[in-house]
Amino acid sequence: MNIDLHCHSNISDGKLPPDQLVQAALNNGAELLALTDHDHLGGLSLAQKTAHRLGLSFINGVEISVSWRGRSIHIVGLNFTPTDELEKTLHINRQGRFSRLEKIAERLEKKLSVKNIVQGALSFANSPDSVSRTHIAQYLVQQCVVENAQQAFKKYLGDGKIGDIKHQWISLEQAVLAIINASGVAVIAHPARYKISATAMRNLIEEFKTYGGQAIEIATPVHSLNERLNLTLLANRYDLYASAGSDFHGNGEFGRIIGQTPDLPVTCRPVWDLFE
Ligand code: AMP
Ligand code: MN
Ligand code: MN
Ligand code: MN
Repeated sequence: MNIDLHCHSNISDGKLPPDQLVQAALNNGAELLALTDHDHLGGLSLAQKTAHRLGLSFINGVEISVSWRGRSIHIVGLNFTPTDELEKTLHINRQGRFSRLEKIAERLEKKLSVKNIVQGALSFANSPDSVSRTHIAQYLVQQCVVENAQQAFKKYLGDGKIGDIKHQWISLEQAVLAIINASGVAVIAHPARYKISATAMRNLIEEFKTYGGQAIEIATPVHSLNERLNLTLLANRYDLYASAGSDFHGNGEFGRIIGQTPDLPVTCRPVWDLFE
């Protein structure tokens, strides 16, 4: 089956509105789709309606930002029924986004000869509470500070760079509990992307499991083949289900294609076995 359980619409930092995203996924042969905007459920009802109209299977999703041991980790929630608790939990993360933007902007403006980063980034975002580093990157491209978003992250916004300010997201426990209390499945997003030791990865998984986390993302173009195979060993060792997602943000970005993901290694237990 062609399954994509991780992608972004323009409700967070993707380019396409939810309805166009669903149509594009179907055009690419998707048979099951989840929309997983950052800290936001605002695109789900339009995506769901569109998928229903087009005959594509769709489940609710979200990608939650978490601070864990001083690092940012992403937890995907799948197949939940939205609750007030989940909405309130996501709201905490969204509330912090504007002041974080102001802090990043201040730092970058001191270092670069670019002005109005706050207004500039907001002009690309759906709302101040969904503004992200992606929107800052888009403004830096527009202002010809960098040639593309990738370069913006490499030089200014990525891990350890000047725009990478310490920010407090919600805890791993809050995120996982909000998902499972909404009858959803919690998934560690793109585990191989985190620059943490093998021991820290095991600690992360063990803690994630104590809160009720059940799956890790394996089949994503964000991971190399080697990373996917290593994560399969880890999933089997910790009795975790495996998820698949493109992490698509927009047409032609980073070679990711909506609705298309690498095959899950055969020894994985697919996370969709948990869905009805
Ligand atoms: P934020 O939620 O504001 O921390 O922004 C995180 C988003 O920035 C991620 O979801 C990605 O879409 C994007 N991002 C992170 N690192 C990179 C990178 N190296 N190149 C391009 N986009 C990135
Ligand atoms: Mn993103
Ligand atoms: Mn992510
Ligand atoms: Mn993502």
